[in-house]
Amino acid sequence: MTAVESRSGLGTYADDLDGYRTALRAYLRSEPSLRRWRGAHYDTTEKRIAEHGFLMGGLYRGRWNRYGWPAHAGGLGGDERHRAVLYEELGAAGLPVPEPHLMLETLAPPLLRFSPELAAELLPPYLRGEEWWGQGFSEPEAGSDLAALRCRARPDGDHYVLSGQKVWTSHGATARRLACLVRTGTTESRHRGLSMILVDVATPGVSVRPLALASGQNELAEVFFDEARVPASRLIGAAGQGWAVAMYLLQFERAMFAWLSATVALRRLRELRDQVAATTLPDGATRRFGECYADIVALRARSVETVRRLAAGETVGPEASVDKILLATVETGLHDLARELLGIRFTFGAEPDAASWRDDWWYSRGSTIMGGSAEVQRGILADHVLGLPKERSA
Ligand SMILES: Cc1cc2nc3c(=O)[nH]c(=O)nc-3n(C[C@H](O)[C@H](O)[C@H](O)COP(=O)(O)OP(=O)(O)OC[C@H]3O[C@@H](n4cnc5c(N)ncnc54)[C@H](O)[C@@H]3O)c2cc1C
Repeated sequence: MTAVESRSGLGTYADDLDGYRTALRAYLRSEPSLRRWRGAHYDTTEKRIAEHGFLMGGLYRGRWNRYGWPAHAGGLGGDERHRAVLYEELGAAGLPVPEPHLMLETLAPPLLRFSPELAAELLPPYLRGEEWWGQGFSEPEAGSDLAALRCRARPDGDHYVLSGQKVWTSHGATARRLACLVRTGTTESRHRGLSMILVDVATPGVSVRPLALASGQNELAEVFFDEARVPASRLIGAAGQGWAVAMYLLQFERAMFAWLSATVALRRLRELRDQVAATTLPDGATRRFGECYADIVALRARSVETVRRLAAGETVGPEASVDKILLATVETGLHDLARELLGIRFTFGAEPDAASWRDDWWYSRGSTIMGGSAEVQRGILADHVLGLPKERSA
């Protein structure tokens, strides 16, 4: 630890984004132990996320993924731009963004803002890659209409007792904790009667059932709560403040997630180019490559501004839906391009790169649904950004 770090808890690069990028780039390109994660394919989600946890641990020990997070929660200072640089440089060095970072980007900002003590206690092991969390919002009867959710949390002394179900929980099969949006008020209270609470999966009364995608991978899970007792100290924000916490969270889920995913998409497009370089491509392939690249550039151009706004502490709010829509265009376009260009190899190839593209293609079908469907995003833009008149039924 340098003298500067020991006094303030801040790292050398907390106020030096360019210095951070230069040092990080040098490390990522020269560190031999990182070879293990370049071009790796894992035949199960569980193996992939565990391996990515080890990568996260290495980045933590090197102090690289601690930038962008505050010192009191295990970070070394800096802001969202540091995190954006980390993801960009990982992609440029041909490395994956460790998957636990996806949920970290979604869940850590609201925790830091609404429950800093919990963040101080629980974020350091997350940053070390020792654990990762899931987001328990959706229920069988509450997806787009989240305010209809029914999973109940009844106060009982210094605990809440949870009963109900969540579904489509990303990383749910391996997550150690779940940030759950639960009903603490009446059903009629809609969004006013919700609270956010962080639940340890090991709590008696919590059971997790993995959900396999069409790829066969357990990317998601459903979670059942049967009188599960969770300490009230695990509330994120105050009781009844769940909707405000969720709305704050969603701008990170849509915007930081979009930046992170754009860096991954650019790496994958480069890999695809290399994989098909020696083959005869169908007519129009070069144009399709160009279109896909242009979509990624459009997403990045939008997203870099959003990251700057978040770093400046601005509220992005409903405008984050623009980033989300551009991201879905990139995700579907990139994976359709891979399917088309790899041809028979995509469908039947046993090689790890073919298997990766197949798994990822299936997952990309969810990009217009997860985090709020494309139709709902367009509705948000129409109502809250463009201020268009409401549709009238005939
Ligand atoms: C890969 C993936 C990962 C996910 N990860 C998570 C997670 O980690 N945590 C979590 O809580 N959830 C997660 N989800 C769930 C996701 O948030 C929901 O699927 C999504 O919000 C849609 O809800 P629903 O599936 O209930 O569909 P519904 O809300 O039933 O929607 C059905 C159809 O109706 C349309 N529709 C609904 N309302 C409107 C409207 N007002 N205007 C126009 N069209 C409308 C929708 O666009 C959709 O086409 C994930 C989903 C996927 C696919």
